[in-house]
Amino acid sequence: MVKNVFLDMDGTLLDFHKSEAVALGKVLGDFGIVATPEKIDLYSRINLAQWKRLERGEISREQVLVGRFEIFFGQLGENADALRARKLYENYLSQGHYFIDGAQELLETLFGKYKLFIATNGTKKVQLSRIKDSGIARYFGGIFISEDLGYNKPDRMFFEKCFELIGNVDPDETVIVGDSLSSDILGGNNAGIKTLWYNPMHEKPDKTVRIDRDTDALSDIPDILAKM
Ligand SMILES: [Mg+2]
Repeated sequence: MVKNVFLDMDGTLLDFHKSEAVALGKVLGDFGIVATPEKIDLYSRINLAQWKRLERGEISREQVLVGRFEIFFGQLGENADALRARKLYENYLSQGHYFIDGAQELLETLFGKYKLFIATNGTKKVQLSRIKDSGIARYFGGIFISEDLGYNKPDRMFFEKCFELIGNVDPDETVIVGDSLSSDILGGNNAGIKTLWYNPMHEKPDKTVRIDRDTDALSDIPDILAKM
């Protein structure tokens, strides 16, 4: 029986792509660059690739945060200050939040039945601000941000640190719910806990990652958890 539920934040509870597009549009505006869907798409792909490199331990967080803008401006052929872009972007990103459909209902339903925890790889300042802004902190017994813990999902140590801070966590009674196979579900495998993959885009599973359950709808999650 599941008692502890770790929830990923971006792409699982909050719509990161929307926040990203809005924040990036503002940054480009500040640099006098016209924002187009193609440019936002390009940034999004570069950003994702850099976070994957961080997950694999190839580069540091700082390299992700500035490097993504260096690569982006390079590909646009713009001579713009990546450091300044990083600062502006993080400020804009901190300011807004958009829920994924059904996320608030999900939290309401799970609250009181399970011990809920946030497990996120995002930037501390940005994530704390978005958590506050969205009003979801009250649902959680702990908010675990990789920048604080010193380890990123899928590193086993990310979860070990969480378990240490929570105390008395039985892995058999614990599950991670998230949209990313490479950070959430692989992280769950590494930590020896159960995994529930939220897969709204119907991505293909990776055979090297153990997925205990999966769903394309947040509204299915309460029933799935009750049977895990
Ligand atoms: Mg996610």
